[in-house]
Amino acid sequence: MAIDTQALQTIIRRVIDSMDLKPAQEEATEDGKNGIYEDIDKAIEAADKAQKEYMRLPLARRTEIIEAIRDEFAKPENIDEICRMVVEETGMGDYENKKLKQQLVIDKTPGVEDLVTEAFTGDDGLTLVELSPFGVIGAITPTTNPNETILCNSIGMLAAGDTVVFSPHPRSINSSLRTVELINKAIDSVGGPKNLVVTTNHPSLESSQKLMQHPKIRMLVATGGPGVVKAVLSSGKKAIGAGAGNPPALVDETADIEKAAKDIIDGCSFDNNLPCIAEKEVVAVDQIADYLIFNMKKHGAYEIKDQDTIDRLAEMVYPKDKGLNRDFVGKPATYIAEKLGIDVPEGTRVLIMETDKDHTLAQQELMMPILPIVRVKDVDEGIETAVELEHGNRHTAIMHSNNVRKLDEMAKKVQTTIFVKNGPSYAGIGVGGEGHTTFTIAGPTGEGLTSARTFARKRRCVLVGSFNIR
Ligand code: NAD
Repeated sequence: MAIDTQALQTIIRRVIDSMDLKPAQEEATEDGKNGIYEDIDKAIEAADKAQKEYMRLPLARRTEIIEAIRDEFAKPENIDEICRMVVEETGMGDYENKKLKQQLVIDKTPGVEDLVTEAFTGDDGLTLVELSPFGVIGAITPTTNPNETILCNSIGMLAAGDTVVFSPHPRSINSSLRTVELINKAIDSVGGPKNLVVTTNHPSLESSQKLMQHPKIRMLVATGGPGVVKAVLSSGKKAIGAGAGNPPALVDETADIEKAAKDIIDGCSFDNNLPCIAEKEVVAVDQIADYLIFNMKKHGAYEIKDQDTIDRLAEMVYPKDKGLNRDFVGKPATYIAEKLGIDVPEGTRVLIMETDKDHTLAQQELMMPILPIVRVKDVDEGIETAVELEHGNRHTAIMHSNNVRKLDEMAKKVQTTIFVKNGPSYAGIGVGGEGHTTFTIAGPTGEGLTSARTFARKRRCVLVGSFNIR
């Protein structure tokens, strides 16, 4: 039997359709695939629908989903890919340190166990206070820890029963999208709902604004500088602000100076000083200042002594008329030295210099391995100076001392969210220090080191007259 050409084409089209052979290109750019949407409004709608489905699942499923995410990100090829990508895309930070940061988030971000129920019992019965989800959270993330913040926020928010829409920093868009993609892949691998974690591939100030105003967003979490914190706090919604810091490290004459020098250089050079908790300036009591500097040099510090060079450095990284020069944020000390035109030994980790407390290098949050040292006559002047340099950010401070009374006094006066005694700054986020980790440290709004319970609402459930069995 003869078949005409038109009939043959129809048969072929039907066979192809039944095989679902879409071109690879179309598959890769499909809107909403792996939680990535062209338009933030669509992302919010999808996350809202997903949250309703997620709420119905048992807590054990939340744990299963979170474990799948941890496992996916712990794969060596994924750690390698994302950390490499972040360094290449942003031009900031250190690949090896980024791997440590990602592993830290995987290992030390609390899950569902963080949602601790309170109970009251008595003659009138039993009352429970349970930690329930807010709903859909809008989270704005920084360029300094793009993957860590998205991963850490996702674990905490999913543990609390929320879904999340991310508005990442445009300068770290590709690594942020890849992080969201891998989170979705992990959720898929255990058959979890789609769209629990979503984002847009066109983040901008406008999309952040939409996120802040959308009625279906019940909570905002901003991790970044003062601008974004102010913006979410002005939104009229429940908002958590994790803002800027300028952590001082105070060293007094009772400290173990050799250890203090090593801790300070380790903390300051970590990820080229990108973490908001990293030591940004040192305040040293005169009696031990020279010995501290001598020991810092043993651990990779290079001291700039010439005043003109110090002032030129300040003008290069923080020009008076323009503010922070982003070209130097998160760059290695050797790169900064080269651009300044000075020779430093290979392996130099931090550039140190003595300045007064009013110098730009001490006053400003630079996020690069430049560490000014301010000399003070005694520990009392040291505490006063460190408090002043922290600028009331209530973020992080470090003190090296064996004088318990002065450690107490500093803690009370500086009022920071993290106060590390006798260790590097990163002990404050769980590296060689006790406690969980986070990359969203909410100083301005007071939640502290955020975790699942931060992203949950307290709800009271009262049973009258029964279940008091005492
Ligand atoms: P950034 O403030 O430039 O950007 C952070 C995010 O906010 C980005 O997604 C950006 O697009 C968005 N944004 C900025 N201004 C906005 C506005 N007015 N409205 C809406 N969205 C806005 O910060 P960055 O350079 O990415 O990160 C470094 C800063 O973040 C430093 O000040 C650092 O101390 C701080 N930080 C704080 C924490 C913390 O836990 N407290 C953690 C990481 C970084």
